[in-house]
Amino acid sequence: MTAKLTMNSPVIILRVAIAVPLPRLFDYLAPDAIGINDLRPGIRLKVPFGSQTKIAYLVEVDSKSDQPLEKLKAIVAILDPVPLLSGQDLQLLQWASRYYHHPLGEVISAAFPAALRKVSDTPETKVRSYRLTEVGEATPIEALKRSPQQQALLALFQSDGRNHLTETELNQWHKNWRSVIKSLLAKALLEYYDLPLAESPKKTSEPVAAIQCSARTEVHLNPAQQDAVIGVQSCLGSFAAFLLEGVTGSGKTEVYMQIIRTVLERGQQVLVLVPEINLTPQLQARFQQRFPGVIALTHSNLTNKQRHAAWVTMQKGDHAILLGTRSALFTPMQNLGLILLDEEHDTSFKQQEGFRFSARDVAVMRAKIQRVPVVLGSATPSLESLFNVSQKRYQHLILNERAGNAAEPKLHLLDIRNKKLQSGLSEILLTEINKTLERQEQALLFLNRRGFAPTLICHGCGWVARCQSCDANLVIHHNEQRLRCHHCGKEQRLPPVCPSCITGELTSLGLGTERVEQTLLQLFPQKRLIRLDRDTTQRKGRLEHYLDQINQGEADIILGTQMLAKGHHFPLVTLVAILDVDSGLFGIDYRSSERLAQLIVQVSGRAGRENKPGKVILQTRCPEHPMLHTVINQGYRHFAEIALAERKGAGLPPYSYHALLRVQAHQPHIVQDFLRRVIALVKPESSTGSQILGPVAAPMEKRAGMHRYQLLVQTSKRHNMQQILDNLLTKINSLKDAKKVRWSLDVDPVDLF
Ligand code: ADP
Ligand code: ZN
Ligand code: ZN
Repeated sequence: MTAKLTMNSPVIILRVAIAVPLPRLFDYLAPDAIGINDLRPGIRLKVPFGSQTKIAYLVEVDSKSDQPLEKLKAIVAILDPVPLLSGQDLQLLQWASRYYHHPLGEVISAAFPAALRKVSDTPETKVRSYRLTEVGEATPIEALKRSPQQQALLALFQSDGRNHLTETELNQWHKNWRSVIKSLLAKALLEYYDLPLAESPKKTSEPVAAIQCSARTEVHLNPAQQDAVIGVQSCLGSFAAFLLEGVTGSGKTEVYMQIIRTVLERGQQVLVLVPEINLTPQLQARFQQRFPGVIALTHSNLTNKQRHAAWVTMQKGDHAILLGTRSALFTPMQNLGLILLDEEHDTSFKQQEGFRFSARDVAVMRAKIQRVPVVLGSATPSLESLFNVSQKRYQHLILNERAGNAAEPKLHLLDIRNKKLQSGLSEILLTEINKTLERQEQALLFLNRRGFAPTLICHGCGWVARCQSCDANLVIHHNEQRLRCHHCGKEQRLPPVCPSCITGELTSLGLGTERVEQTLLQLFPQKRLIRLDRDTTQRKGRLEHYLDQINQGEADIILGTQMLAKGHHFPLVTLVAILDVDSGLFGIDYRSSERLAQLIVQVSGRAGRENKPGKVILQTRCPEHPMLHTVINQGYRHFAEIALAERKGAGLPPYSYHALLRVQAHQPHIVQDFLRRVIALVKPESSTGSQILGPVAAPMEKRAGMHRYQLLVQTSKRHNMQQILDNLLTKINSLKDAKKVRWSLDVDPVDLF
C-alpha cells in the first residue's frame, strides 16, 4: 500500500483517516525531517484539523495529491514510531468501513482504546524512549570502534536490565545524544519505543504455566464434546467457521476451554467474545480459574485505564486470552490463533449507534483475514448462522444432550384464560412454586418488564401518563414514587391526583417486576426473594452479590427480567416460569418470533442444570399458538427450520439483504421532505430485484423529542446492496438539507426501530 518513493521525490503526502463523520481521507504534508521509514500505514499522527488538533491514522503515503500543495498543512507529530495495528488489522478495518459504509477514521478509531484516540490523553510529555533492535542486541560493540560515542551508547543500551532509555536519561548521558542516536537508528541498531503506560511493560507468565494449572480442573469430555473439540483442533492454523449448537448446559464452555488450551500450547492467542460479561461474572471466574495469569478482560464496567492496559498486553503478546464484549473485537494481537464467540444469537453483538457493526459477522471476516478458525456458539443459534450452515459456509458442531447427569427440563404451556390471577400469577403456578420451595429448591420467575406497572390511568376521566418527548407511556416506579420513561429517561414524581380532572382515582394497569415482587412478598412472607432487573442491580457489585446469594442457596424465589436469560448456571433452580409469554407473540418486527423462541429456550435453560430435574411453565392466553407448540414440543431447531422457510417465502433476510436509513429531526415535515427527495434520486431499477421501501414512520415515531422516519433498502444480492448504498450516500451528502436532519445507515439491522 505504501507508495514507492524515489530519492528525488519532491514531496511526501500523508493520506490519513480522521474520526470525523465524513466519508473521505485527508492529505497532509510530512515535515522535512521525517524519514520515509517512519511512515508505515497504521501509525497515529497528530494533525491540525480546522481550529483543532486531532489524531489521524496513516492510511497511505503518496507523492502527489488531488489538492494544491499550498493548501495542504503539515502534520504536527508522529505518535507511533511503529504501527500498533498490523497490516491485517488495517485490512479488516478497511473492509468494515466499506461494508458498513462508515467513515474509515471512525472505524479505525474503534480499534483503539479511548486513551489512544484522544489528543488530550496523548500529550507530548508521553515518554519517548529508544531500545535495541534484534540486530542491536546481537552486534558486538567492537563493530563501532571507529566511533567512540556510538560505541559508548550501544554499550549503555546493552548493559544489564536496560530495555529502554528515555530522552531524559539520554540527556543525562550526553548533551549531544541526538546526533549519536541518529546514527544508531540509521544502522537499525536502535528503534523508537514509546512507553504506552506509566508502568513499564513486563512479560507475564508464559501460556505454559496456565496449561499446567488448567489440566487439573479439566473434566472428562463426553463423546459429542470430544468431536466438537477435535473438529476445531483439526483446523487450527487455517480459516474455518463453526457453529457450535449445544443445548443449554451441554458443556459448550468446557469445549471452548479445551480448544483454547490447545491453541495456547501452540503459543498463540485467543479472542473470546461474549455478549455482556458483567451479567455473567461466573463465566469470567471460570475462565480465570482455568487460565490463571494469562487472561486479560475488557468490558464496559472497567475503567478506560484498565481497558487500555488489556489492549496493550494483547497487542504486545504478553497475555494469551482476551475475554471481552463486542468492543474487544478489533484488539490487535501479535499471534492470534482462534476466535470464539459465545451466545452468538445475542443482539448485543450488534453495535446500535455510531459505527453499527455486527461483532459476529466481523469476527468471521477477521478469522478469514488472519487465517484462524472461528467458533460461534449458542443453544439457540440465529437464523443467519443456521442459514450459513445450510450454505456450507459454517461447519455444524452439535451437542444434543446436557453434560454430566443433568437432564433437559420439561416445558409446559399453562392456559390462563378465565383463570384468577394475582399480579399475573395463576393458582396452578402458585401451587408449583409452593411445592418447589417445600423441597428446598429455587423457583425462577421471568417477566420482561421492570417497574411497578407500565400504565398510570385515571379511573375518572381516562387521562394516561404519557412521556412528553416520546410516543410512549410513563412507567410507574412505586418504590421511588416516580414515573419514568424507559425510552428517553425523563422522569417525574408520581402525581398525587389526576392532573386532568383532579378528582378521579388514579390506577395502574399492567404488570412490572416491582408489582409481582410486592405480591410474592405477601404470599410468601417467610421466603427470601431476590429481584434482578436493571433497577435493583444499578449499584456496582449488586448483581454479583445477588448471584452469589442465589448460588449459595440464600434465595428461594428469583424474579427478574432479560438478565435472567443470560447463560447463568444456577444449580438449585428447578422451577422456571415465564409469567407473560404472550407479550412476545405479537411483535411488529419480523424477527420477533425468533427472539421469543430464543428467550423461551434460554430462560428455560436455567432449570434443572444439576442432578434434580427441571420444570418450566409458560403462562399463556394463546395455548393453541403454533409457534409456541413448535418450540415446546419439537424444540428450537425445528422451530428454526420452519421460521427459515417462512423467511424464504417472504424473501426476508437471510434470503435477502437489508439496510435501514434512519432519519430524524425536531419536526416531522423536515424528515419527510428530506426522505422524499432522497428516494427520488436513488430509485433502483426494479429489474435488479432491489427495492427501496418508504419513507415510513419508525414504529415509535417520536422519541426523545425527535421525529423518526426510515427507508428500508432490500436487495436479493449483496453486491447490489453495496452499489445502492454507495449511490445513496453520495446523493445524501450532496443534498443541502442533509445538515438539517440527523441520519444514520444501518447495514444488516437487527431491528427496524
Ligand atoms: P453450557 O456452556 O453449554 O451452558 P457448561 O459448559 O456451563 O454448559 O456446562 C454445564 C455444566 O456441566 C457445568 O457445571 C459443567 O462443569 C458441567 N460439564 C460440562 N461438561 C461436562 C462433562 N463432560 N462431564 C461432566 N460435567 C460436565
Ligand atoms: Zn382524571
Ligand atoms: Zn420519553
